[in-house]
Amino acid sequence: MESKKSEWSSSCDYGWGDQGAEVQFEFPPRLRKTWRLIRSKGHWICQLPVSFQTAPPLVREDMRSWLHAVLHPSPGSRARKKSAQVRIFQWLTPISPELMPRARAQGITWDLEELFKKLNHQYFDGSIQAIVRWSPQIGGLSTHRHLHTATGSHHLLTISRGYDQSSVPREAVEGVLFHEMCHIAVPPKPSQGLRRQVHHKAFREAERRYEGYEAWRSWEARHLHKELRILKKSLWIGRK
Ligand SMILES: [Zn+2]
Repeated sequence: MESKKSEWSSSCDYGWGDQGAEVQFEFPPRLRKTWRLIRSKGHWICQLPVSFQTAPPLVREDMRSWLHAVLHPSPGSRARKKSAQVRIFQWLTPISPELMPRARAQGITWDLEELFKKLNHQYFDGSIQAIVRWSPQIGGLSTHRHLHTATGSHHLLTISRGYDQSSVPREAVEGVLFHEMCHIAVPPKPSQGLRRQVHHKAFREAERRYEGYEAWRSWEARHLHKELRILKKSLWIGRK
């Protein structure tokens, strides 16, 4: 059966065909910042921005995961849909590294750039390329993001500003930074299921190469719990 396709969707599917017959993909040129899922004549049609034709494998996987969660809802699919959606939007509208002030790496106690250079030299032969910065807020999360921009792709490592204190030992700051660096060295792998594996076996092994690993983990076990308790207590008081 010949399906009626418009001009811009007929050429090829750029690897989007393996969704099977369930969903057809189209790439309308005017669609830029979002995507659509439409039901038309008994078929599901997913319209994607043209940039998806050259999307990296993990973005494709996130899109498939999103579609699967929408078309086949199950316990847990809502969370999977949301996290896939967040990553797709981050890829669609990335932070431009050119706009990132370098000074963000210099904290009050720790200079992330300096720690990064040291760890990079000691454990990765200087092969890791990334922009490092403290999170804008104290309660911010430590994250690794792979940004794809017009000028190429960049890794952005954000370390929670909560670690920029004299009471935080070097092993703890370095441990968190090292963990995020390992995400670049040992990337997530697509798994058979729809959830991608981030902290997989090879990652955990790479992470244990850090000399201060034990000191870092035991510091976290002792201190993060304490901070969490304080936080909960203050929230409780605030509610009264
Ligand atoms: Zn991680």
